[in-house]
Amino acid sequence: MSTMPAAFIGHGSPMNALETNRYTQAWRAFGASVPQPRAILVVSAHWYINATAVTAMPRPKTIHDFFGFPPELFDVRYDAPGLPELAEEVSDVVTPTWVGSDVDSWGIDHGTWSVLVHAFPMADIPVVQLAINATKPMDYHLELGAKLAPLRDAGVLILGSGNIVHNLAGMEPRRQHDGFDWARRFDDAAKELILDDPAKAPQLAGHRDFGTAVPTPDHFIPMLYLAGLAGAGSGATDVLVDGYAYGSLSMTSYLLDGDAPPPAPQTPDADAEDRGLPDLDPEQTNL
Ligand code: ZN
Repeated sequence: MSTMPAAFIGHGSPMNALETNRYTQAWRAFGASVPQPRAILVVSAHWYINATAVTAMPRPKTIHDFFGFPPELFDVRYDAPGLPELAEEVSDVVTPTWVGSDVDSWGIDHGTWSVLVHAFPMADIPVVQLAINATKPMDYHLELGAKLAPLRDAGVLILGSGNIVHNLAGMEPRRQHDGFDWARRFDDAAKELILDDPAKAPQLAGHRDFGTAVPTPDHFIPMLYLAGLAGAGSGATDVLVDGYAYGSLSMTSYLLDGDAPPPAPQTPDADAEDRGLPDLDPEQTNL
């Protein structure tokens, strides 16, 4: 079995689950470009808890962990099976790090399903989530990512899902396809490290725009898992798609050892069905 690619996806608004745009098209092309995985292991920004744990239920539920969006978004289900035995495989490769097994609290959150409905629309590949341990420093996540590398040789597609720049308080609905200067500076700095020296990605915490781009670390950390995997191997990392949303989100996604088409230019797609955001303070949306 060959080594499975890995990716970090900038997921943005959960409305992407219902829309067709540059990002969702790139996610779709990514899914179509990878060999059939045995399982998909997702590190989602939206499972940010005080422990290192994996979901281990046979039928994970679809979690609608956001507020203010239209009812049809709450109707989306992603009924992929789980793969309880993957919990033990994850435990084995990251030893001596302790990994809890969650059998009844989490499932598949929107950081995962808003991407997978496009990348793997059949929902027939088992999906397991790995929680972000909020008590640990940046280096812990980079190193844990690197330790997961052997799973790639066992048919597991590893995905981080977050946003490298994610400042909900700074969002401006009128800047739907635009980024503030500080957002661009930080995303560019991240791009340089991720492509050229991924093991140094935690150094981004010292960047002058870090506090504005990453006011809370939950959406940033999933990238460190891809950076860890990239640093642990000898493969090439490419930009899958890049761009900005609402001024203060970057949508940049990365692909490791993959073969997806080159990213589309950063111009709004004339065919896009973007419907924007709910009329609600973005900080109340949990996107
Ligand atoms: Zn999110």
